[in-house]
Amino acid sequence: MQAWRIEKHGGVEVLARKEIKKPELGPHEVCVQVEAVGLNHLDLWVRKGVPGHKFPLPLTPGCDVSGKIAAFGPGAEKALANAGLGGTPLEVGMPVVLHPGVSCGRCSACLGGFDPVCREYGILGEHRDGGCADFIVVPATNVVARPKGMSAAEAAALPIPYLTAWTMLFSKAALKPGETILIHAGGSGVSVAAIQMARMIGATVITTVGSEAKAAKARTLGADHVINYKAAPFRDSLRVILKQIGRRSCDVVIDHVGQDTFSDSLKSLSWGGRLVTCGATSGADVSVDLKMVFFKNLSILGSTMGSKADFLRILDLVATGKLKAVVDSVVPIAELPRAHERLESREAFGKVVVTNPLDL
Ligand code: ZN
Repeated sequence: MQAWRIEKHGGVEVLARKEIKKPELGPHEVCVQVEAVGLNHLDLWVRKGVPGHKFPLPLTPGCDVSGKIAAFGPGAEKALANAGLGGTPLEVGMPVVLHPGVSCGRCSACLGGFDPVCREYGILGEHRDGGCADFIVVPATNVVARPKGMSAAEAAALPIPYLTAWTMLFSKAALKPGETILIHAGGSGVSVAAIQMARMIGATVITTVGSEAKAAKARTLGADHVINYKAAPFRDSLRVILKQIGRRSCDVVIDHVGQDTFSDSLKSLSWGGRLVTCGATSGADVSVDLKMVFFKNLSILGSTMGSKADFLRILDLVATGKLKAVVDSVVPIAELPRAHERLESREAFGKVVVTNPLDL
């Protein structure tokens, strides 16, 4: 089969499309023919490398995958008989979307329902071969039926960003209706999801973007107030907006920018406010004034991924139109390097998705 491989870290030139052996199916595994893969910043880190972190190269990238079931490994067909949305039995040819997190399934974290803290937790395309190939093999527990009417590209836009945003807002920050939330980088995959989710429960949503074109799109998604951080420092614009709406500060800040925004994000919080971070695209070295943290009873929360059960809820909310997938652009899988460049340019609003138009 055809697969994109990363054999060494570097620029887009290290992405190499190769003919490799189709992966073998083990017990309780499912082989899925890939139709679409949503790109995340994680794809860029895997390609470029992270100092002090070892990725299992050579590796097929691609974390957020949708496709059709091609084959079942021993025992998987039976195990899946009651899986999927509403207990739909899964069968060969059925459209599915994959949960990107693979964990042991036996430890207290897994059994407790929050597998991202399982010590064996790994992500497709980071810890094991991902979806930028004709086929991918995953544990049966990672396969979920795709809701009717949801395209492969839409489904591939959901897993990592929507799970991450859901966990940050509801599990970590415990965002409540009526609270005010600041969401940085409103065009990013996670923030596009967070804006919709915060709006869905009746929070007041303020977001930052880097262009007027993105500002209009963020408003369409449901942001109440949009700050162009390139026009003025975001804290200045935020103060004006908060004054307009009769607030002094934000209850929750979603910050995955890091170095460039972290200090001002903390200063933007109300007493008892919560800052949740799931990334550091501008750098991870930040300074924290601890006096502010304890005097104001602030919480700084780290977050990555989310539980498999929450992903089922998210799919249901998208299927019923309460949330929507936001696809920036669709690129043929043969042009994966161009898709990486699009994501890296920071021009995208929503997900860059690559598609693999093969027939079963
Ligand atoms: Zn576990």
